[in-house]
Amino acid sequence: MSVTVVTTIAEVRVAVAAARRAGKTVGFVPTMGALHEGHAALVRSAAATSGFVVVSVFVNPTQFGPKEDFAKYPRTLEADQKLCGEAGAQLVFAPSAAEMYPERSVTFVEVKELDAELDGPARPGHFRGVCTVVLKLFNIVLPDVAHFGAKDGQQARIIRQMVRDLNVPVEVRVEPTVREADGLAMSSRNRYLSPTERSTAPAIYRALQNVKARALAGEIDVARLESALHAELAAIPGSRVDYARILDSETLQPLPRLDRPALAAVAVFIGTTRLIDNVLIQ
Ligand code: AMP
Repeated sequence: MSVTVVTTIAEVRVAVAAARRAGKTVGFVPTMGALHEGHAALVRSAAATSGFVVVSVFVNPTQFGPKEDFAKYPRTLEADQKLCGEAGAQLVFAPSAAEMYPERSVTFVEVKELDAELDGPARPGHFRGVCTVVLKLFNIVLPDVAHFGAKDGQQARIIRQMVRDLNVPVEVRVEPTVREADGLAMSSRNRYLSPTERSTAPAIYRALQNVKARALAGEIDVARLESALHAELAAIPGSRVDYARILDSETLQPLPRLDRPALAAVAVFIGTTRLIDNVLIQ
Protein backbone atom coordinates (compact mmCIF):
# COMPACT_ATOMS: atom_id res chain seq x y z
CA MET A 1 0.00 0.00 0.00
CA SER A 2 1.24 3.48 -0.71
CA VAL A 3 1.86 5.95 2.04
CA THR A 4 2.38 9.70 1.68
CA VAL A 5 5.24 11.41 3.48
CA VAL A 6 4.71 15.02 4.55
CA THR A 7 6.99 17.31 6.51
CA THR A 8 4.77 20.22 7.51
CA ILE A 9 2.05 20.61 10.11
CA ALA A 10 -0.19 22.29 7.52
CA GLU A 11 -0.02 19.22 5.25
CA VAL A 12 -0.96 16.90 8.14
CA ARG A 13 -3.96 19.06 8.99
CA VAL A 14 -5.20 19.02 5.37
CA ALA A 15 -4.79 15.23 5.03
CA VAL A 16 -6.43 14.44 8.37
CA ALA A 17 -9.32 16.83 7.67
CA ALA A 18 -9.94 15.09 4.33
CA ALA A 19 -9.94 11.67 6.02
CA ARG A 20 -12.42 12.94 8.60
CA ARG A 21 -14.69 14.35 5.90
CA ALA A 22 -14.62 10.88 4.33
CA GLY A 23 -15.95 9.54 7.65
CA LYS A 24 -12.75 7.82 8.76
CA THR A 25 -11.48 7.55 12.30
CA VAL A 26 -7.89 8.59 12.79
CA GLY A 27 -5.24 6.37 14.40
CA PHE A 28 -1.82 7.63 15.40
CA VAL A 29 1.54 6.01 16.12
CA PRO A 30 4.24 8.42 17.34
CA THR A 31 7.82 7.16 16.74
CA MET A 32 11.39 8.30 16.40
CA GLY A 33 11.86 6.26 13.23
CA ALA A 34 14.43 3.51 12.55
CA LEU A 35 11.31 1.40 12.55
CA HIS A 36 11.22 -2.33 13.27
CA GLU A 37 8.66 -5.08 13.75
CA GLY A 38 7.61 -3.62 17.15
CA HIS A 39 6.57 -0.40 15.44
CA ALA A 40 4.96 -2.38 12.59
CA ALA A 41 2.77 -4.17 15.13
CA LEU A 42 1.58 -0.80 16.46
CA VAL A 43 0.79 0.39 12.92
CA ARG A 44 -1.08 -2.83 12.09
CA SER A 45 -3.09 -2.51 15.27
CA ALA A 46 -3.88 1.12 14.40
CA ALA A 47 -4.92 0.08 10.88
CA ALA A 48 -7.21 -2.60 12.32
CA THR A 49 -8.89 0.07 14.48
CA SER A 50 -8.91 3.23 12.37
CA GLY A 51 -9.50 3.94 8.69
CA PHE A 52 -6.73 6.55 8.49
CA VAL A 53 -3.41 5.92 10.20
CA VAL A 54 -0.74 8.56 10.75
CA VAL A 55 2.80 7.64 11.84
CA SER A 56 5.09 10.41 13.03
CA VAL A 57 8.84 9.96 12.58
CA PHE A 58 10.62 12.59 14.63
CA VAL A 59 13.81 12.26 16.62
CA ASN A 60 12.75 14.70 19.30
CA PRO A 61 15.78 16.66 20.54
CA THR A 62 14.09 17.77 23.77
CA GLN A 63 13.86 14.24 25.18
CA PHE A 64 17.60 13.55 24.88
CA GLY A 65 20.10 14.53 27.54
CA PRO A 66 23.29 16.38 26.54
CA LYS A 67 25.38 13.19 26.77
CA GLU A 68 22.86 10.92 25.05
CA ASP A 69 22.69 9.55 21.50
CA PHE A 70 20.59 12.25 19.73
CA ALA A 71 23.20 12.95 17.03
CA LYS A 72 23.86 9.30 16.24
CA TYR A 73 20.28 8.05 16.62
CA PRO A 74 19.59 6.06 13.40
CA ARG A 75 17.64 7.90 10.69
CA THR A 76 16.19 5.63 7.99
CA LEU A 77 13.21 7.51 6.53
CA GLU A 78 12.98 5.61 3.23
CA ALA A 79 12.85 2.21 4.92
CA ASP A 80 10.44 3.64 7.53
CA GLN A 81 8.10 4.81 4.77
CA LYS A 82 8.09 1.33 3.22
CA LEU A 83 7.40 -0.37 6.57
CA CYS A 84 4.55 2.06 7.33
CA GLY A 85 2.95 1.44 3.93
CA GLU A 86 3.18 -2.32 4.30
CA ALA A 87 1.76 -2.20 7.82
CA GLY A 88 -1.26 -0.20 6.63
CA ALA A 89 -0.52 3.47 7.38
CA GLN A 90 -1.74 6.22 5.08
CA LEU A 91 0.44 9.15 6.19
CA VAL A 92 3.95 9.57 7.56
CA PHE A 93 4.67 12.90 9.25
CA ALA A 94 8.44 13.49 9.30
CA PRO A 95 8.94 17.10 10.42
CA SER A 96 12.22 18.92 10.90
CA ALA A 97 13.11 20.18 14.36
CA ALA A 98 12.46 23.71 13.07
CA GLU A 99 8.93 22.71 12.02
CA MET A 100 8.17 21.33 15.49
CA TYR A 101 10.02 24.01 17.45
CA PRO A 102 10.01 27.11 15.20
CA GLU A 103 11.12 29.56 17.82
CA ARG A 104 12.01 29.41 21.45
CA SER A 105 9.27 27.39 23.15
CA VAL A 106 8.63 28.13 26.81
CA THR A 107 5.69 25.80 27.43
CA PHE A 108 6.25 22.26 28.69
CA VAL A 109 4.14 19.39 29.97
CA GLU A 110 5.28 17.71 33.16
CA VAL A 111 3.63 14.70 34.75
CA LYS A 112 4.67 14.56 38.39
CA GLU A 113 5.21 11.53 40.65
CA LEU A 114 5.16 8.91 37.89
CA ASP A 115 8.64 10.11 36.90
CA ALA A 116 10.10 9.74 40.38
CA GLU A 117 11.75 6.38 39.62
CA LEU A 118 13.31 4.53 36.67
CA ASP A 119 14.01 6.75 33.64
CA GLY A 120 12.86 9.88 35.53
CA PRO A 121 16.02 10.26 37.63
CA ALA A 122 18.16 8.30 35.12
CA ARG A 123 17.31 10.71 32.28
CA PRO A 124 16.53 14.16 33.74
CA GLY A 125 14.11 16.11 31.51
CA HIS A 126 13.36 13.06 29.35
CA PHE A 127 9.68 12.68 30.17
CA ARG A 128 9.08 16.42 30.03
CA GLY A 129 10.42 16.28 26.46
CA VAL A 130 8.33 13.22 25.64
CA CYS A 131 5.07 14.59 27.09
CA THR A 132 5.52 17.97 25.45
CA VAL A 133 6.18 16.54 22.00
CA VAL A 134 3.41 13.93 22.29
CA LEU A 135 0.85 16.56 23.27
CA LYS A 136 2.04 18.77 20.40
CA LEU A 137 1.70 15.80 18.01
CA PHE A 138 -1.78 15.02 19.38
CA ASN A 139 -2.76 18.63 18.71
CA ILE A 140 -1.39 18.43 15.18
CA VAL A 141 -2.81 15.02 14.19
CA LEU A 142 -6.01 15.15 16.32
CA PRO A 143 -6.25 11.34 16.46
CA ASP A 144 -9.12 9.33 17.90
CA VAL A 145 -6.79 6.56 19.07
CA ALA A 146 -3.04 6.66 19.77
CA HIS A 147 -0.97 3.47 20.05
CA PHE A 148 2.06 3.03 22.33
CA GLY A 149 4.28 0.05 23.18
CA ALA A 150 4.51 -1.65 26.57
CA LYS A 151 8.27 -1.83 25.96
CA ASP A 152 8.44 1.78 27.18
CA GLY A 153 6.25 0.97 30.17
CA GLN A 154 6.86 4.10 32.20
CA GLN A 155 6.32 6.28 29.15
CA ALA A 156 2.99 4.59 28.40
CA ARG A 157 1.87 5.04 32.01
CA ILE A 158 2.86 8.72 31.97
CA ILE A 159 1.11 9.42 28.65
CA ARG A 160 -2.08 7.79 29.96
CA GLN A 161 -1.91 10.06 33.00
CA MET A 162 -1.29 13.17 30.90
CA VAL A 163 -4.30 12.37 28.73
CA ARG A 164 -6.45 11.80 31.79
CA ASP A 165 -5.25 14.86 33.72
CA LEU A 166 -5.48 17.28 30.78
CA ASN A 167 -8.72 15.87 29.30
CA VAL A 168 -7.01 15.18 25.99
CA PRO A 169 -9.70 13.67 23.73
CA VAL A 170 -7.56 10.73 22.59
CA GLU A 171 -7.92 7.06 23.49
CA VAL A 172 -4.54 5.61 24.47
CA ARG A 173 -3.87 1.95 23.70
CA VAL A 174 -0.80 0.14 24.95
CA GLU A 175 0.33 -2.84 22.86
CA PRO A 176 2.51 -5.77 23.97
CA THR A 177 6.28 -5.68 23.57
CA VAL A 178 7.46 -7.37 20.37
CA ARG A 179 10.61 -9.47 20.84
CA GLU A 180 13.22 -11.16 18.72
CA ALA A 181 13.04 -14.98 18.65
CA ASP A 182 15.64 -15.10 21.45
CA GLY A 183 13.59 -12.77 23.68
CA LEU A 184 15.47 -9.50 23.18
CA ALA A 185 12.95 -6.64 23.05
CA MET A 186 13.05 -5.05 19.62
CA SER A 187 14.56 -1.58 19.74
CA SER A 188 15.99 0.89 17.27
CA ARG A 189 19.05 0.94 19.52
CA ASN A 190 19.70 -2.80 19.02
CA ARG A 191 21.49 -1.88 15.81
CA TYR A 192 24.25 -0.25 17.89
CA LEU A 193 25.14 -3.68 19.36
CA SER A 194 28.24 -5.53 18.14
CA PRO A 195 27.68 -9.20 17.23
CA THR A 196 29.07 -10.26 20.61
CA GLU A 197 26.88 -7.76 22.48
CA ARG A 198 23.87 -8.86 20.45
CA SER A 199 24.48 -12.44 21.52
CA THR A 200 24.59 -11.55 25.22
CA ALA A 201 21.70 -9.03 25.22
CA PRO A 202 18.87 -11.62 25.43
CA ALA A 203 20.07 -12.31 28.99
CA ILE A 204 18.24 -9.10 29.99
CA TYR A 205 14.85 -10.61 29.24
CA ARG A 206 15.88 -13.95 30.76
CA ALA A 207 16.68 -12.13 34.02
CA LEU A 208 13.25 -10.48 33.95
CA GLN A 209 11.56 -13.81 33.33
CA ASN A 210 13.53 -15.42 36.15
CA VAL A 211 12.54 -12.75 38.67
CA LYS A 212 8.93 -13.06 37.57
CA ALA A 213 9.11 -16.84 38.03
CA ARG A 214 10.54 -16.38 41.53
CA ALA A 215 7.76 -13.98 42.39
CA LEU A 216 5.08 -16.28 41.04
CA ALA A 217 6.66 -19.14 43.02
CA GLY A 218 5.91 -17.19 46.19
CA GLU A 219 8.79 -14.79 46.91
CA ILE A 220 7.12 -11.51 47.90
CA ASP A 221 10.06 -9.61 49.42
CA VAL A 222 10.75 -6.94 46.82
CA ALA A 223 14.23 -6.07 48.11
CA ARG A 224 15.31 -9.70 47.71
CA LEU A 225 13.77 -9.92 44.25
CA GLU A 226 15.41 -6.67 43.16
CA SER A 227 18.83 -7.74 44.37
CA ALA A 228 18.55 -11.10 42.56
CA LEU A 229 17.50 -9.28 39.39
CA HIS A 230 20.33 -6.79 39.74
CA ALA A 231 22.89 -9.54 40.32
CA GLU A 232 21.78 -11.52 37.29
CA LEU A 233 21.96 -8.44 35.05
CA ALA A 234 25.36 -7.43 36.45
CA ALA A 235 26.68 -10.89 35.57
CA ILE A 236 26.04 -10.33 31.85
CA PRO A 237 29.48 -9.86 30.24
CA GLY A 238 30.11 -6.21 29.33
CA SER A 239 27.01 -4.97 31.16
CA ARG A 240 26.46 -2.06 33.52
CA VAL A 241 23.14 -1.94 35.34
CA ASP A 242 21.55 1.51 35.37
CA TYR A 243 18.55 0.32 37.38
CA ALA A 244 16.69 -2.90 38.18
CA ARG A 245 13.46 -2.11 40.01
CA ILE A 246 10.16 -3.68 40.92
CA LEU A 247 7.49 -1.04 41.44
CA ASP A 248 3.75 -0.72 41.87
CA SER A 249 2.64 -0.88 38.23
CA GLU A 250 -0.06 1.74 38.76
CA THR A 251 1.79 4.40 40.79
CA LEU A 252 5.35 3.45 39.74
CA GLN A 253 6.29 3.91 43.40
CA PRO A 254 8.36 1.44 45.43
CA LEU A 255 6.49 -1.30 47.24
CA PRO A 256 7.94 -3.43 50.04
CA ARG A 257 5.92 -6.58 49.35
CA LEU A 258 4.41 -7.98 46.19
CA ASP A 259 0.78 -7.62 47.22
CA ARG A 260 -0.45 -5.91 44.07
CA PRO A 261 0.40 -5.84 40.34
CA ALA A 262 4.03 -4.83 39.86
CA LEU A 263 6.29 -3.78 37.03
CA ALA A 264 9.81 -5.19 36.93
CA ALA A 265 11.73 -2.64 34.87
CA VAL A 266 15.40 -2.50 33.98
CA ALA A 267 17.88 -0.31 32.14
CA VAL A 268 21.19 -1.94 31.30
CA PHE A 269 24.15 -0.73 29.33
CA ILE A 270 25.56 -3.44 27.07
CA GLY A 271 28.84 -1.83 26.12
CA THR A 272 27.82 1.76 25.41
CA THR A 273 24.24 0.91 24.35
CA ARG A 274 21.54 1.53 26.91
CA LEU A 275 18.68 -0.97 26.64
CA ILE A 276 15.42 -0.98 28.61
CA ASP A 277 12.90 -3.75 29.14
CA ASN A 278 10.15 -4.68 31.57
CA VAL A 279 7.65 -7.36 32.52
CA LEU A 280 4.41 -7.13 34.42
CA ILE A 281 4.10 -9.33 37.51
CA GLN A 282 0.57 -9.99 38.62
P1 AMP B 1 10.47 4.69 19.60
O1 AMP B 1 10.46 5.14 18.19
O2 AMP B 1 11.39 3.52 19.82
O3 AMP B 1 10.67 5.79 20.57
O4 AMP B 1 9.06 4.07 19.93
C1 AMP B 1 7.87 4.48 19.33
C2 AMP B 1 6.76 3.62 19.88
O5 AMP B 1 7.01 2.27 19.56
C3 AMP B 1 6.65 3.70 21.41
O6 AMP B 1 5.29 3.68 21.78
C4 AMP B 1 7.36 2.44 21.83
O7 AMP B 1 6.92 1.96 23.09
C5 AMP B 1 6.96 1.49 20.72
N1 AMP B 1 7.90 0.37 20.65
C6 AMP B 1 9.25 0.44 20.53
N2 AMP B 1 9.78 -0.81 20.55
C7 AMP B 1 8.74 -1.67 20.70
C8 AMP B 1 8.64 -3.10 20.81
N3 AMP B 1 9.70 -3.89 20.77
N4 AMP B 1 7.41 -3.62 20.97
C9 AMP B 1 6.31 -2.83 21.03
N5 AMP B 1 6.34 -1.49 20.92
C10 AMP B 1 7.54 -0.92 20.76
